[in-house]
Amino acid sequence: MKCPQCEYQEDKVVDSRTTKEGEAIRRRRECLQCGKRYTTYEYIERAPAIVVKKDGRREQYDREKILTGLIKACEKRSVSRKQLEKLLEEVEGATFGKFKNEVKTTDLGNEVIDRLQQLDEVAYVRFASVYRQFKDINQFMKELKTLLDKPGPVENGGVDETEDASDLSEGRKSRGRSSREGG
Ligand SMILES: [Zn+2]
Repeated sequence: MKCPQCEYQEDKVVDSRTTKEGEAIRRRRECLQCGKRYTTYEYIERAPAIVVKKDGRREQYDREKILTGLIKACEKRSVSRKQLEKLLEEVEGATFGKFKNEVKTTDLGNEVIDRLQQLDEVAYVRFASVYRQFKDINQFMKELKTLLDKPGPVENGGVDETEDASDLSEGRKSRGRSSREGG
């Protein structure tokens, strides 16, 4: 390590400790020529996480992008951002955590969808409809029906979902209150 003052290349470590979060080691070093003290940090080198799309294209994993999609799916539901962040951490652990730095978007999506279903079923259908890109409206309605037939705390969100679905299938009703952001 070149001394920042005299550029001499030999030093001694006078202190070495792990940072509070355990993500790095901080070392105080002293130049053996001029005595200048400086600090270095040592981190684990990580390869960037890569997602492989269906058509084989690769791009860097973007946690924010998925989180944004999840937050949108959970609109007006009682799911906190913190819960979603935890969900994503679990997903990352289950995919990239297996010493892989390349994960298929479908695998990633399925991991998210499985966990989201346990968290909130309405959000699950919303997210799955975008992510899995249901082949046709019947498939979507089938999934929706299964969900709505289930006894459970779906609350008043259920009615809205049905209306949304008919909007998708026919597109002739134009409701003014629709504030769906383009996607
Ligand atoms: Zn020096």
